[in-house]
Amino acid sequence: MIYIGCHLSVTNGYEAMGKTMLDFGGNTFAYFTRNPRGGKSKEIVPEDAAALNTLLKENHFGKLVAHGSYTMNLCASNESTRANGLDMLQKDIERMEYFPDSCYNFHPGAHTGQGAEKGIELIAEALNSALFPEMQTTVLLETMAGKGSEIGRCFEELREIIDRVELSDKLGVCFDTCHTWDAGYDIVNDLDGVLTRFDKIIGLDKLCAVHFNDSKNPCGSHKDRHEKLGEGTIGSDAMKRIALHPALQGKPFILETPNDDAGYIKEIHTVLNWMK
Ligand code: FE
Ligand code: FE
Ligand code: ZN
Repeated sequence: MIYIGCHLSVTNGYEAMGKTMLDFGGNTFAYFTRNPRGGKSKEIVPEDAAALNTLLKENHFGKLVAHGSYTMNLCASNESTRANGLDMLQKDIERMEYFPDSCYNFHPGAHTGQGAEKGIELIAEALNSALFPEMQTTVLLETMAGKGSEIGRCFEELREIIDRVELSDKLGVCFDTCHTWDAGYDIVNDLDGVLTRFDKIIGLDKLCAVHFNDSKNPCGSHKDRHEKLGEGTIGSDAMKRIALHPALQGKPFILETPNDDAGYIKEIHTVLNWMK
């Protein structure tokens, strides 16, 4: 089985998200550690964090997959943007430690004209400053669609980052189905082939979470526009094959589809039905 859930708002606190996901019928979730467009993060009340941890344990949730801000760019050409990104990363990881054994994923960055090689170096440099031996959080690099100057448009780029990070055992990958498809990996007609490539280049042991999205655009479009499950170019049959793939069992699957609460509840139940 896989764990299934969606993005939730942290506005009402941490335990509240757990309760909401129980209501939705899922058993994992994601939230933005701060406003997705940047800015402040919500203060963590230790009792609230502890209450969520208890709820997660009692209800056998899969790992949480918190999401870093979109404005965090560890490889921007602008130095203060980079420094600001590193500051966000460090503070986010600090806060993640309230939820031991969780995942924190982020978009590796956009090299903004410096070239992929330089971008990879800068991202690794930031990770080398932010990761520490005692941390209990796994930091996930997300597979990207390759729009603009995004790093992470192919498995090789993620591998290169991981190779340059000293504490690489703290790193993993979040496999975004929409992004990977948009990047040019044919998960519809050759899912086994794509996962075999992932295994060869990065290692399936590093695949810690899935962002479970359909796509509005064709394979290789480098667009990154998510679609509801079964309503996009990936389609229901392929999405179902992904959810049931042996290599992905036990992983948290996070819906980032364009939905309101009712839409998410429906998709969570669709996925639960596939697993029956
Ligand atoms: Fe993302
Ligand atoms: Fe994603
Ligand atoms: Zn996306």
